[in-house]
Amino acid sequence: MNQTLLNRTEFKESVFKRDNHKCVICGKPAVDAHHIIDRSLFDDGGYYLDNGVSLCFEHHMLAEETEISCEFLRSHAKIKNILYPSDLSLNEFVMDYDKWGNPILKDGRRLKGYIFRNANVQKIIQSRLKDFDKPYDPIVDKYPRTYHFPFSPGTTSDDRIAKNTNILYKRPVIITEKLDGENCLDADTLIITEFDGKKTIKWLCENEYKGRVLTYNVNTELEEFQYVMNWSILDNIGDWYELELEDGKTLILTGNHRVWLVDLQCYRKVNDLKEGDDFLLKR
Ligand SMILES: [Zn+2]
Repeated sequence: MNQTLLNRTEFKESVFKRDNHKCVICGKPAVDAHHIIDRSLFDDGGYYLDNGVSLCFEHHMLAEETEISCEFLRSHAKIKNILYPSDLSLNEFVMDYDKWGNPILKDGRRLKGYIFRNANVQKIIQSRLKDFDKPYDPIVDKYPRTYHFPFSPGTTSDDRIAKNTNILYKRPVIITEKLDGENCLDADTLIITEFDGKKTIKWLCENEYKGRVLTYNVNTELEEFQYVMNWSILDNIGDWYELELEDGKTLILTGNHRVWLVDLQCYRKVNDLKEGDDFLLKR
C-alpha cells in the first residue's frame, strides 16, 4: 500500500479537500468522509486518502448499504489507486469487493465475505441479504451514452458528439426520434452478418449465431465485424410497469429499466420505485 496512513481527522480533512467538500455523486455539501472499504477490514484502520470519498447523508446511507458499489464511488472521486486490506486480494475469480469485503466475482455474483455474519454488517445490509450468491446489482451509471451527430439540434457540452460521420456517406439512413430505452432493439431488428446476409436479432439468438456481425466501435468511431459474445432469450414474465408522467401521458417500461431519481441524483430500477417518487427518464 503506497499511501500515507492518516489519522481520523486528517482523513476527513484530506478527503473533503480533494472532493471540494461536496458529495462526489450529487454535489450537495459533504457530511461524511466515507470509508470505501470498511475500516474494520484493515488492520491499520484504513484511513488512507484513496480509501475515502465525500458523500452527503443520502448517498452515504446508500454506500453503506452497498446499494452503491465501491467501483462507482471510486470512479466518481476519480480514484485510480485501488486500496484493499492485506487479506482481500483479487484473483482469476474475484473482480472486486463491496464495502464489507464481500467478494464480487467475474461472473457478476456476490458472495459472502468473512465479516458477513457480524451483527453490524447484517444490520446495515439487511435490505440486500436476499441478493447474495446472486448477481450484484448496485446503482450504476446506466448505459454507455450514445453519440449525437454534430448537427443534432439541442446538444449540450455534456453530450457525446460523434466526430466521424463519414460512415453515413452515400448510404440510406433511417432517422428516428431518440427515445428513452433507445439502447434496446426490437427482436425483428435486422443485423448485418459478415457472410450470411441480414438476420434478425431473434434469429441470431435462437440459432446462437457463431459468425461475426457488423458493429460500431464507439471508441474508434469505426465499423467493424465482431463475434457475438453471448445470446440469451428471456421469457416475457409480464414484468411491465405503466408509469404516469406529469403531462398525463403514460409510459410502459420493464421493471429492469432505470430512471433518474431527481432527489438522489442516481438511477434506480423501475421495480424499486415507490409511489410519488420524482424521476426523469434521463439525467
Ligand atoms: Zn449525495
